[in-house]
Amino acid sequence: MDVTPILDPLNEAQREAVSCDTVPALVIAGAGSGKTRVLVHRIAWLCEVVGVSPFSILAVTFTNKAAAEMRARVEELLNNNLAGMWMGTFHGISHRLLRAHWQEANLKQSFQILDSGDQIRLMKRVIQGMGLDDTKWPAKNACWFINSQKEEGLRPKDMSDNGDITQRQLIKIYAAYQEACEQTGLVDFAELLLRSLELLKHRPDILAHYQTKFRHILVDEFQDTNSIQYQWLKLLAGEQNPIFAVGDDDQSIYGWRGARVENIQNFERDFKGSQLFKLEQNYRSTNTILSAANSLIDNNHGRMGKKLWTDGDDGEPIYLYASFNEQDEARFVADKLKHWLDTTSGRRDDVAILYRSNAQSRVFEEVFISQSIPYRVYGGLRFFERAEIKDALAYLRLAKNVDDNPSFERIVNVPTRGIGQRTVALVRDFAKEHQLTMWQAAEKILQSSLLAARASNALAQFMNLMVKLSKEISELELSEQVDHIIQTSGLVAHHGKDASEKAKSRVENLEELVVAARGFVVDNELYEGMPPLDAFLTHAALEAGEGQGAKWDDCVQLMTLHAAKGLEFPLVFLVGLEDGLFPSSMSMEEPGRLEEERRLCYVGITRARKQLVMSYAESRRQYGSDNYNPPSRFLSEIPSELIAEVRPRAKVTQPRYQSSAPSMMINGSRANSEALNDTGIKIGGRVAHAKFGEGVVLDCEGKGNSARVHVHFESAGSKWLVLAYANLNVIA
Ligand code: ATP
Ligand code: MG
Repeated sequence: MDVTPILDPLNEAQREAVSCDTVPALVIAGAGSGKTRVLVHRIAWLCEVVGVSPFSILAVTFTNKAAAEMRARVEELLNNNLAGMWMGTFHGISHRLLRAHWQEANLKQSFQILDSGDQIRLMKRVIQGMGLDDTKWPAKNACWFINSQKEEGLRPKDMSDNGDITQRQLIKIYAAYQEACEQTGLVDFAELLLRSLELLKHRPDILAHYQTKFRHILVDEFQDTNSIQYQWLKLLAGEQNPIFAVGDDDQSIYGWRGARVENIQNFERDFKGSQLFKLEQNYRSTNTILSAANSLIDNNHGRMGKKLWTDGDDGEPIYLYASFNEQDEARFVADKLKHWLDTTSGRRDDVAILYRSNAQSRVFEEVFISQSIPYRVYGGLRFFERAEIKDALAYLRLAKNVDDNPSFERIVNVPTRGIGQRTVALVRDFAKEHQLTMWQAAEKILQSSLLAARASNALAQFMNLMVKLSKEISELELSEQVDHIIQTSGLVAHHGKDASEKAKSRVENLEELVVAARGFVVDNELYEGMPPLDAFLTHAALEAGEGQGAKWDDCVQLMTLHAAKGLEFPLVFLVGLEDGLFPSSMSMEEPGRLEEERRLCYVGITRARKQLVMSYAESRRQYGSDNYNPPSRFLSEIPSELIAEVRPRAKVTQPRYQSSAPSMMINGSRANSEALNDTGIKIGGRVAHAKFGEGVVLDCEGKGNSARVHVHFESAGSKWLVLAYANLNVIA
């Protein structure tokens, strides 16, 4: 047996882990030390050397993207196609189990996945249906509550209110919501995991089957498993199947979603006779990047403590740019990345822009569009979450399962067909009163005289359309099914009527959905045995964002720090480094959460291979107002000798306001006051603007036509204005 291809590309510590005995094993190591590489080579080792069948292996990773990459790497090592192997995310694998055992799991065969947006909408209906005021009981909070209960494995019957009225009400909402899901054949993300765990717990025969099947279980990003996932792994492992887990306690970033980093500590206790491996050499980043990451994470307490080292170069310093607002930040990033593309052999998809929250992508998108820089956003308003796409998917879902209430509500009057709110409310109430789904209720209502003739006709037409669509698509291929639905439902015609850019892009997106369906590979084993349309709908719900219709292959990558986990890029921009944004304002009061934010920053820094560029904005428009956040505390935790400030600007003073009448403290004058030459305007002086009224000049920037001033107006708040157009009058 030639094990050279499996062991050669590894260092000594990695080899030991890859070739260890078949006992439980835990590899704990810092970012970029080759954990994922070890996992991939371990699979190859098991297949080639130990002689394990690839079909006896279960491999779990965190994202679909990572799973696809892992599969490709194992296939390359083994020179073999592994289509039937169980490799995927916890959600994907749970889903596959539930599809295979829908009856035993008490599900409808046609059950569909409820994504988070749909979950909130359904929750709102449930809350209103209970006669509660949904402003007092916001659907989003209820979803949060229920998801976290499910993540702890709790059902309403397992919970007690301890005399707390709010808790009691939330438990009732949970029960009503669950009933609505059961009735309509819908399963939310947290339910996928809990339901499959319950299936394994309650059906020893099914558990025994899978325990016999999966002789080896491998888990990447182990630090982010939550309580349910951990129990699920333990059950499947049973007494005899060794688990091989790799993770990094410093990269645990899903505590807010129930992830338990303690699982790492429990591993040795729960999996008897386990071996522990540590890897310390980093192969990803330059020395400078690594030193920055090490210094930052040193500020956290209770770490398992490991130091990463590399024998690579120091590389370039970390560049830091203090932008004056978020627009300036995005323009700087665009300039810098264009320069990098021009001066290196790098490609656009070697560049990632990482931010704390999805909303930050918009400004970058605008700048990139205006400068024709191809980009791709992961997360945010993803392809499968766009309204028109969700409408089309709802048609497809309802055609498969008429009892899908959220889909029914979503499209009953889209495009408008004269079915008003009153009719929908009637159907909803009738359904509730008689314990029916909306479709069943509508059927009954049509047989009665509850609706006036016009409304009744409109509703009948809609239902006939759905019956017709359902029949017509049954014989078609997947992409034809999608095409038929978007045409016949009237969606394309509806958006096509409007000549605006937005409507045009909606039609394009609908067409892109047909393209996505055409390119959809049903032979992914996760969808084994499923009709292609079911598989596609599952894919849309599970992989939202990852199948985005990208117009270019080679695009700059935009994503949140959470989504960047496990990935690496030669050039990384870490943007929005401001206290209040990153770390988030909520985390700043709680040490535990602040440490999780710091780990997130550590994840961000360690994504960079060659060059890291960081930036913050002195003023940022957030939630409709201008905020002046100080630079992120994380910046001060990175040794200053590693950082080179780009175009260092005069030290900017944070304006401080008194709560009502703003009186300004300008500490020292700015060197950069060229902008104000000959205008009579000075920093700290008062000016008047035709629209915004009177205010005080805080700051200035730039020269000539692009000179801008920052004015705090008494009634209109703070604004940056272009001096040449602002027509400011000097008052004092
Ligand atoms: P993360 O914690 O970010 O998930 P990781 O520990 O999983 O990181 P990998 O992604 O497996 O690290 O590896 C980081 C980079 O180092 C990859 O580009 C990988 O190919 C490379 N690498 C890992 N081990 C070696 C090695 N022994 N020789 C050369 N390159 C290696
Ligand atoms: Mg990894």
